[in-house]
Amino acid sequence: CGIIGYIGRRDAAPLLLNGLKRLEYRGYDSAGMAVMNGSMQMLKKKGSVSNLEELLNVSGTVMLGATVGIAHTRWATHGDPSDRNAHPHMNVSGDIALIHNGIIENYSSLKQELIAEGYAFESDTDSEVLVHLIDRIWKNDPALGLEGAVRQALRHVDGAYGICVVSSREPDKIVVARKGSPLVIGLGEGEFFIASDAAPIVEHTNKVVYLSDGEMAVVTRDSYTVKTIENVEQQKRVTELDF
Ligand code: GLU
Repeated sequence: CGIIGYIGRRDAAPLLLNGLKRLEYRGYDSAGMAVMNGSMQMLKKKGSVSNLEELLNVSGTVMLGATVGIAHTRWATHGDPSDRNAHPHMNVSGDIALIHNGIIENYSSLKQELIAEGYAFESDTDSEVLVHLIDRIWKNDPALGLEGAVRQALRHVDGAYGICVVSSREPDKIVVARKGSPLVIGLGEGEFFIASDAAPIVEHTNKVVYLSDGEMAVVTRDSYTVKTIENVEQQKRVTELDF
């Protein structure tokens, strides 16, 4: 339902939490976030963003100081609203985390394939297949890197998505992609925001780039590149929002 990502030099967890609050107006049933602090750290919870905030206050010290992360408010389509079905979803080794808006139409056949190969699922969501698919493709061809593995994975997928993916194997980037579910990049000074709409971005910057359907972006602390899912680089217009 709602997506917010941050990469920069400030403490990511409180920024992400604040972003989730700006996305609450869309409606949701659970919320979660993952940040990279050396290793991947994840918290997620059924119910309101304030439930997640409580969890962050109690057990979030390991998340403090991280400067890259992703967060999500979920509106369940596949699988009950619950802690374990909340996003992010991680691969088995816990070094890739993914959030997803939309519906993966062919998740069931992909899930059967992955289970047959020994992948263990932790949720009932359609979204989780994506993270295991990325894991499998990346393991089979390490040279692909995170971006290449996400690109290949999306070729197997039917449906609608806005996704953000991070990995502690390549900790200084966020890889995002959209098809049928909006994503916008907010351009700050030495920092970038990714979100499903401009609501959580406008308090930080008025410069944004809207991704089009079929586009991916790789966002680091200092730059972003936008390509099609077929790997053709795109020149994007920067939009200045009126406050
Ligand atoms: N289909 C996914 C799920 O049920 C994502 C739903 C959403 O867009 O929040 O978990």
